[in-house]
Amino acid sequence: MAWVIFILGCGRENDFIYDVPAEFELYIDRFIEEAKARGRDITIDNLILKKDSSLPLLYCAVSNTISQKNDVQKIISINVPYCWQNDVQLEAMIFHELGHCILGRVHDNSAMPKGDPKTIMYPDNITVYSPCVYFTGSGCDLSYRRPYYVDELFNPLTPVPDWAK
Ligand SMILES: [Zn+2]
Repeated sequence: MAWVIFILGCGRENDFIYDVPAEFELYIDRFIEEAKARGRDITIDNLILKKDSSLPLLYCAVSNTISQKNDVQKIISINVPYCWQNDVQLEAMIFHELGHCILGRVHDNSAMPKGDPKTIMYPDNITVYSPCVYFTGSGCDLSYRRPYYVDELFNPLTPVPDWAK
């Protein structure tokens, strides 16, 4: 009996795992690098990222928790079939989910003066800094917006950029 208690007592603190498929690992590493470039030292060793074909169609991905705390196993489930149309949208989707489960950020529906989402944490929008998927004129490439959105992810007080005024 004594050891059962010992095992359970230990497990509570130490049973978090890191399990991210190789195809998505790059984006986790990039999130850590972008944090570091902004003076934030983030370690991600408690994360399961998995594909889940049972998610409602509405969601590209979901996170099981909104918290900076390391007190539950963090799990990001990615809907199958995939909903992104290029690697940049995939990055924005993973950054959004890490915003929930690593940074503890909630959804934010606010818009900037020209109507653009204020943040990657806008719900259900993985195209905020996407390049053109189909070329529909010069306005479809939003790549230049990435520095602002990544800044804002790590610091919600980032000022509104000129292109959004
Ligand atoms: Zn979300």
